[in-house]
Amino acid sequence: MAKLRKTTDVRCPVCGHAFRVPNTGSHVTLGRESDLCPRLPGRQSDGARALRAEATMCPRCSFAALEDFDELDFSSELRYSIESLLEDDGLIKVFRESDPPWLAFHSAEACGKERNLSARELGDLCLRASWVCRKERERPFENTFQLRAVRHFMRSLERDSLEGRELSVTTYLVGELNRRLGHHREALNWYVNAGKTLEENERNESLGWLERMIETQSRLAEEEAA
Ligand SMILES: [Zn+2]
Repeated sequence: MAKLRKTTDVRCPVCGHAFRVPNTGSHVTLGRESDLCPRLPGRQSDGARALRAEATMCPRCSFAALEDFDELDFSSELRYSIESLLEDDGLIKVFRESDPPWLAFHSAEACGKERNLSARELGDLCLRASWVCRKERERPFENTFQLRAVRHFMRSLERDSLEGRELSVTTYLVGELNRRLGHHREALNWYVNAGKTLEENERNESLGWLERMIETQSRLAEEEAA
């Protein structure tokens, strides 16, 4: 199959550097894993590349985000504070040259805090980073990002007044990520909480898939905890 070689021209909203990014286009998803990581057709490395391409990182200043750079318009104060933050970031300093698959997500999280993204959005960035790490078999970094995602999601449950589907999915993810980190008892408590949010869901959304996932993963956590 011929590979698409299309690229898109983008301009960094922080330093103004213009560069090209590969245009991966949309991809087909063949269901999801229990932490909602999409299953993608083709080889594992193709899947990793597709997930990795969701974050764009400027090769000059390392600013990164999930959004299209065209949509971002920052004040000069924010540009300055992001630039100094990126210059001081230890991981970016150490890893800039080797460009590991998770670097753009790490930068997007750091910049996201500076941009006042919600805890839910920061958690989502870390969750995506953990998916990329798993597909790239970077196990220690997968766990690092899972832990960061748990912390953001827990803060989000405290502060973001989530409701409906978002509340149930976020609560479930705190459970599932805890299970993946080996914290089985905590995982079981969070699955119970997630189940309660489903019972209390007044919007009556169809979340049967989540109910089934909570049941399956609770059984798994019980077995693993035994
Ligand atoms: Zn830049």
